[in-house]
Amino acid sequence: MSVSTGIGWDSHRLAEGRPLILGGVTVEHDRGLDGHSDADVLTHAVIDALLGAAGLGDIGEHFPDTDQAYAGADSISLLRDVVALLGNREVLHVDTTLLMERPKLKPYKDTIRETLAGALGVTVDRVNIKASTGEGIGFVGREEGVAALAVATLSRP
Ligand code: MG
Repeated sequence: MSVSTGIGWDSHRLAEGRPLILGGVTVEHDRGLDGHSDADVLTHAVIDALLGAAGLGDIGEHFPDTDQAYAGADSISLLRDVVALLGNREVLHVDTTLLMERPKLKPYKDTIRETLAGALGVTVDRVNIKASTGEGIGFVGREEGVAALAVATLSRP
């Protein structure tokens, strides 16, 4: 068996009149993330971590933001597409950190974990969600945007 890891990073701008979708879950907030798809920054980071671990490039190569097919795309369904590309690789673990000043993620963490685990086809104990604020500094702290990091570990027979 061989084991590989991949990292993922993404950031999106906060904008008025957009829903805030994180890990496939709509989070109550006065603004949301702007982007070509649903701008689900957390799911995008997970997708890139999986692609990295599998040596399959990055999210922009698979789902170009110049392609109208992905306008407003549901990122959880893109994640399912990526899981299908993994073939005989098994998702051992996915760890994530969301960098967001507001709102508090705690009420949503369990649902996000379940949603991501469902799309990954694994049990919730293989997925972890962490959140961190920007302490008032940088683009996260000034609430200009939200960022996410992910690490995926895959095994292959
Ligand atoms: Mg993105």
